[in-house]
Amino acid sequence: MNRRHFIQQLSLGAGATLMHPWLGITQPIEKKLGVALVGLGYYSTYQLAPALEQAKYCRLAGIVTGTPAKAEEWTKKYNIPQKSVYDYKTFDRIIDNPDIDVVYVVLPNSMHHEFVIRAAQAGKHVICEKPMAVTAQECEEMIAACKKANKQLAIGYRLHFEPFNLEMARLGQQKVFGKVKQIKADFGFTIGDPTQWRLKKSLAGGGPLMDVGIYAIQGCRYITGKEPISVKAAFMPKTDLEKFKEVEETLSWEFTFPDGTVSASLSSYNQNIELLRAEAEKGWFELKPAYGYGPLAGKTSYGEMKLPIVNHQLMQLDGIAKSILDGKPNIVPGEEGLRDVKLMNAIYRSAETGNKIDF
Ligand code: NAD
Repeated sequence: MNRRHFIQQLSLGAGATLMHPWLGITQPIEKKLGVALVGLGYYSTYQLAPALEQAKYCRLAGIVTGTPAKAEEWTKKYNIPQKSVYDYKTFDRIIDNPDIDVVYVVLPNSMHHEFVIRAAQAGKHVICEKPMAVTAQECEEMIAACKKANKQLAIGYRLHFEPFNLEMARLGQQKVFGKVKQIKADFGFTIGDPTQWRLKKSLAGGGPLMDVGIYAIQGCRYITGKEPISVKAAFMPKTDLEKFKEVEETLSWEFTFPDGTVSASLSSYNQNIELLRAEAEKGWFELKPAYGYGPLAGKTSYGEMKLPIVNHQLMQLDGIAKSILDGKPNIVPGEEGLRDVKLMNAIYRSAETGNKIDF
């Protein structure tokens, strides 16, 4: 493949990314879905609520919070009627609220299971933040509850709606640089407040792997388009025994994929790292930064990736809402969340036992 032909393929790829159904649609929208956010912490406050203000297919219609002061602040700021304000006990009454079509669960990880099931039982579509839950059994119960209610379940995998990550998936899966031989996928940050739920096993389910390592797992899976066949993992020694009493501080793992591709990953709460890179037979492609809210940046062995910088939460919310409005399956279903939870549990098992695990 010569350089010109290659660049044509790259730009076609970018165009193809833009052909996703929720992008570039200009016709007027008849109805915006009403979304209720459950848990008004950092992610709801600074990312989801502002994105809902801009969304074309959904809007902020309700809140579920345990803090009366937040209820007061949010109802004023977002003009939310009192009848659409719930706490964790009154939440189930949402069943009688026709203004709420979708419940978005943005609570600590171990609470996702309960609130997704209650939302489904109240007859609402559900979006659940990552990681979907703490165990595979919980994920299966969540999927079953939404199926039983005949409602959609979507996981908050915003990077499935983000052009740079979609391009990595295309370059890998379409073998634009030939077969991918190796992947490096790392995500870590330096965690602050030692009292936060992310450091408590009962609320977080695990440490950086559950919180950010999940993005590295996703990256390897969408570059290859395949599921790993084995994993070998190891915990790194803790440097702060008090802070990391309950969860790991840093962890590394390697996946092997069915066609021989290998990936190496690191996830950490004590270093700022963010990389997704693939080495293929005829070149390489990478994102750095790869998973944060952006702007993301990508390069290949042929040069810089020129792709739109988007608001991830906006793309995700409108993408999922459009699927619901169209009565079509969303692209980030519960089954996708379940796969990652199974892999994370296997990574922990391998790190604990020192054994390679075959799937
Ligand atoms: P946060 O600590 O800022 O907010 C958590 C909210 O849950 C708070 O409003 C808190 O009051 C409420 N809560 C209810 N019961 C609680 C309890 N027992 N302990 C602690 N808090 C309790 O957390 P966050 O950063 O908003 O994360 C919430 C969820 O969103 C997590 O599952 C996280 O993984 C996910 N998240 C996703 C992204 C993303 O980019 N997709 C980014 C950040 C967080």
